[in-house]
Amino acid sequence: MKIVIQKFGGTSVSSLDSRNNIVKKIKEAKGKGKNPVIVVSAMGRKGEPYATDTLIGMLNEYKSAPRNLDLIMVCGEIISSVIIATHIKNEGWDAIPLTGGQAGIITDNHFGNANIKNVDTQVLLNIIKEGKVPVVTGFQGITEHGDFTTLGRGGSDVTASILGEALNADSIEIYTDVDGVMTADPRLVSSAKVLSAIDYNEVFQLAEYGAKVIHPRAIEVSMRCNIPLYIKNTNTDSPGTLITNYNKINLQKTLKYPVVTGIAHIPNRAQIKLKIKNQNIESYFDPLFFTEIANRNISIDLINLFPEEKVFIIDNNDIEKIEELLKENKYEYTIIDNCCKVTAIGNGMRGVPGVMARIISALHREGIQILQTADSHITISCLVNGKDTKTAIKVLHEEFNLG
Ligand code: ADP
Ligand code: MG
Repeated sequence: MKIVIQKFGGTSVSSLDSRNNIVKKIKEAKGKGKNPVIVVSAMGRKGEPYATDTLIGMLNEYKSAPRNLDLIMVCGEIISSVIIATHIKNEGWDAIPLTGGQAGIITDNHFGNANIKNVDTQVLLNIIKEGKVPVVTGFQGITEHGDFTTLGRGGSDVTASILGEALNADSIEIYTDVDGVMTADPRLVSSAKVLSAIDYNEVFQLAEYGAKVIHPRAIEVSMRCNIPLYIKNTNTDSPGTLITNYNKINLQKTLKYPVVTGIAHIPNRAQIKLKIKNQNIESYFDPLFFTEIANRNISIDLINLFPEEKVFIIDNNDIEKIEELLKENKYEYTIIDNCCKVTAIGNGMRGVPGVMARIISALHREGIQILQTADSHITISCLVNGKDTKTAIKVLHEEFNLG
């Protein structure tokens, strides 16, 4: 039995036109002899009536238990699945809306960011065997005790991959509002190009470093079960981006890896610099300080420890929490808020000298101050002031001829 997972994001389910396009995509899959399993996100984006952010906002004035917050957050996808299933049924196919739990997705009780423990595919398989189309709510599961849980931001992509793995699907198709994975966020760089194919590892890094077109965990899952993942546009017929192993793409012999494949960014960061009081080895590492940061649920990144100072970045929203801790510990500190972490990613930069030099020169030419850097074998990140975000991404995009 050939199965294809088709996941439709927020903008793909909100208008009548795109719902008609969903039906078109189902028809195409059926025409190829495949059984589609649909996964849907909540309708619309921030500010729209049933978007996840709107639902969270309804509890803003209250202190609510994580379990209850999850219970309100799952509503957006439930509404969406019923509407999409009804729409599909009107177009002539029997479609069955299902919550994550009804589709057999069992998670732990880590509310807000639950981990999937098990998928029982029996109900889905029965629906498929009857020739019907399951429409599963993305972003959610259920605990063994029957509590609804959510999988974290962008979690509908994870639902798609997890179901693809559990059902041993032929492919997983993520439909969104752009033609595929692009060389940069097209909202910031108008010359950004669609990549026709990209390696799992490379796209994982792009996603980790902020390209929100696909959730990194969704890539991990498809990579581990080796199911090809496609990113496509709901509203066009463009072929999209194929995500797989490069050796599978069969381009290996002819392919010249570009030094940089894409530029990703994560906005709303704050850089924290602490002076170290007495420069002995104990206060340099100060493990208790980092344990305390973790206890307060603040996640840190770009961590650099020097004998005389500690530097790291956090989410802007955590500034109040960190200042409380710094004051309690009588640290001398400076904070630069609203920074952006801009990252160049490319399998081809492995072992190639001079990439950092090109990045620094390009940013310098535009008068952009680099606040901090970090690198791995296929990434180079620069922290810049928020006001420089667009220019920094554009200039690096040009420097590596990505447009
Ligand atoms: P959906 O609601 O369909 O899941 P998302 O908003 O999560 O859609 O992801 C699609 C958006 O991701 C695009 O509209 C685009 O602005 C943004 N994006 C950021 N970086 C990239 C990139 N490298 N390639 C494509 N899209 C990107
Ligand atoms: Mg998304």
